[in-house]
Amino acid sequence: MNIILLGPPGVGKGTQAKLLQEKLNIPQISTGDLFRAAIKNQTELGKKAKEYMDKGNLVPDEITNDLVKLRIQESDCKNGFILDGYPRTINQAETLEKNLESLGKKIDLVVSLELDDSLIVERITGRRTSKKTGKIYHIKYNPPIDEKEEDLEQRADDTEEVVVNRLKVYHSQTSPLIEFYNLKNLTKTVNAEGNVEDILNSILKLV
Ligand code: AMP
Repeated sequence: MNIILLGPPGVGKGTQAKLLQEKLNIPQISTGDLFRAAIKNQTELGKKAKEYMDKGNLVPDEITNDLVKLRIQESDCKNGFILDGYPRTINQAETLEKNLESLGKKIDLVVSLELDDSLIVERITGRRTSKKTGKIYHIKYNPPIDEKEEDLEQRADDTEEVVVNRLKVYHSQTSPLIEFYNLKNLTKTVNAEGNVEDILNSILKLV
């Protein structure tokens, strides 16, 4: 099954994609994670992506589309994948459709995770990632049992100033995808306000 998780930054796409990856045994493909890995490894791709990410802007479509095109052809994607944070523009969605078609594949389900903007800033600025396991926590709502052990870090773009721009970018460039996929009868909406388990169960019911 090929699934897209749509939704504003901080809505919990990454958390849910990681859980779905375990439940469904298909890989999470997070373009944000791929870019962050490239930045860490100081590759050319990473250097280019960082310029955009630090400001909360989107990395250009050509770069992002090529990255995903290669990733979905890897062998672990043969039974399906969970796209987390891609597509983010109509151009990306159209390119994805073409690329999948040439591989004899298609998108089966688009889960639109919904959360009010007023809740997003607090969720994002409190978000921390474990350097050890990559697990995502929230300092107030979902703290780790042993903070030191997890060696938490904050993403460079999870500051209040950058979040405001990321939300603006989401509303202007990404949210039109909800309707784009709705016209293809693929969009299913899930309220992302509850706890992690309940949201996961709501998604699993759609799968
Ligand atoms: P995320 O981890 O999904 O919140 O993405 C973090 C940042 O990576 C975004 O703010 C963008 O700068 C960049 N990024 C991730 N996915 C995409 C995408 N599909 N298109 C363009 N830029 C992206």
